[in-house]
Amino acid sequence: MSAKRAKGRSRRETVRERRERTAEIVRRLHETYPGARCSLVHRDPYQLLAATILSAQCTDERVNQVTPDLFRAYPSVSDLAGARTEDVEELIRSTGFFRNKTKSLLGMANAVVDRHAGVIPDTMEDLVRLPGVGRKTANVVLGNAFGKAEGVVVDTHVKRLSGRLRLTRESDPVRIEQDLMKIVDREEWTDLAHLFIDHGRAVCRAPTPRCRECALADICPSASV
Ligand code: SF4
Repeated sequence: MSAKRAKGRSRRETVRERRERTAEIVRRLHETYPGARCSLVHRDPYQLLAATILSAQCTDERVNQVTPDLFRAYPSVSDLAGARTEDVEELIRSTGFFRNKTKSLLGMANAVVDRHAGVIPDTMEDLVRLPGVGRKTANVVLGNAFGKAEGVVVDTHVKRLSGRLRLTRESDPVRIEQDLMKIVDREEWTDLAHLFIDHGRAVCRAPTPRCRECALADICPSASV
């Protein structure tokens, strides 16, 4: 199918057609990025939760440079709960917004110790009640540390690609997530974010997508080829 036809079809695409097109998008991206996975280095739910909090407004690469020292100093969430603010600030300074992030890390750690006996909870309900933890962070932890697909992570890449691929017309992350959950098979919810992030970094870049190199060009309504 040509890009022109894809553009024409997108205006009258039924939900069923969108589901089928989305399944094809996911299939092709799996083929293109067979190793797509969470790029935040972690060994357990505590480390992934802390790393995800640090990843706000920061590259995963930078976070991965900082976390080895952080987890060496505070191997468990209980250790982090007892940390001094200024020590944590110093360790995570290079990730930006370090004062707020330290507040979130210490608030999260203390809440996990107080409310969950030092064990990172594995439900959306409990996770989003922790300081500094929103739905996006909770989805990252549930999907990648607990293997539970409760939703779809919507970061800047997922937002941009979902819009360009016309999988949603929403701009609010929560609504984008709801749209994606309706058209993507549940077993793909966690991988979808990894695939879109890899494709967003490599090809469907901001601000200018490389449509000529894109494996999705013939099924993307925004293709400029
Ligand atoms: S690179 Fe172009 S064709 Fe590929 S998904 Fe992005 S906008 Fe669509």
